[in-house]
Amino acid sequence: MEPKIIVHGGAWDIPDEHVSDHVKGVHHAVETVAPLLRQGMTALEAVERAVNLLEEDPTFDAGRGAFLNAEGNIELDAMIMDGESLDFGCVAAMRNLLHPVSVARKVMDSKDFRFLVGEGAMRFAMNNGFSELPPEELLTERELTFFHSIKNDQSFSQIEAFSGRSDTVGAVALDENGNLACATSTGGTPRKHPGRVGDSPVIGSGGYADNETGAASSTGYGETIMRVVLCKTACDLIPDRGPAEAANRALEILHRKGKGYGGLICISPEGNYGFAHNTPRMAYALAQGHDVRADISVK
Ligand code: ASP
Repeated sequence: MEPKIIVHGGAWDIPDEHVSDHVKGVHHAVETVAPLLRQGMTALEAVERAVNLLEEDPTFDAGRGAFLNAEGNIELDAMIMDGESLDFGCVAAMRNLLHPVSVARKVMDSKDFRFLVGEGAMRFAMNNGFSELPPEELLTERELTFFHSIKNDQSFSQIEAFSGRSDTVGAVALDENGNLACATSTGGTPRKHPGRVGDSPVIGSGGYADNETGAASSTGYGETIMRVVLCKTACDLIPDRGPAEAANRALEILHRKGKGYGGLICISPEGNYGFAHNTPRMAYALAQGHDVRADISVK
């Protein structure tokens, strides 16, 4: 089986001046991880590694560069899922960590639970060798300025703000053994209510992986994505329609039934890619043989 990987770096009206940072970021993730996959890295390791790179990149709303919540704090959510076992790990409402997706990976390996939130998730992370960083290590000037511009704006609406910006990251991979995996990581939506959790860490909504059907990762306004369980919906459509049409159809369902906007990436068990968005632009990169295609898809 030829290994494959596709990543996304948000779906929104990415302004021209941010295009090159987005393309560079997603390109770097695939360029780094695709050769490792070809050397035998598992799909699960590959999606974690790719998302780690995107979390480190301040361009995106994940790890470094995350949006601030209504109280001016960073709260992070992430998930990872293995398509062979259907096992998964999820974390939500975590403070100031560079790699929440790696905490989710550790949660997946734990004996008694698969989804941890808030204080309990932080305690689990600290007990497993992760460190809470000083907020200034994750906070960017861009987000601080944005936060101050919307902090006291009474007309500010989550939905409108969302259609403005959505920089969640995700990765989907197929390894040489035919196993699929997905991972997604986010700082959520700007000025979100403390404790608000969107779709990204929720199995089926922010990501899904099943060796029999396919794997997917999404980005978009979480409150609407959860209505249609977007990634599971896309994966269920892959066997009959193929990944490209499945992605389009799932997005059509998000728009028609969920009244939502966003984007998703997916891979079929045979290693074919699909991606779709109903936002003006989406940043993505994928491995094609030894080449990397990184681009902004335009609607
Ligand atoms: N899906 C994320 C959330 O609602 C936001 C995003 O994709 O940018 O938390």
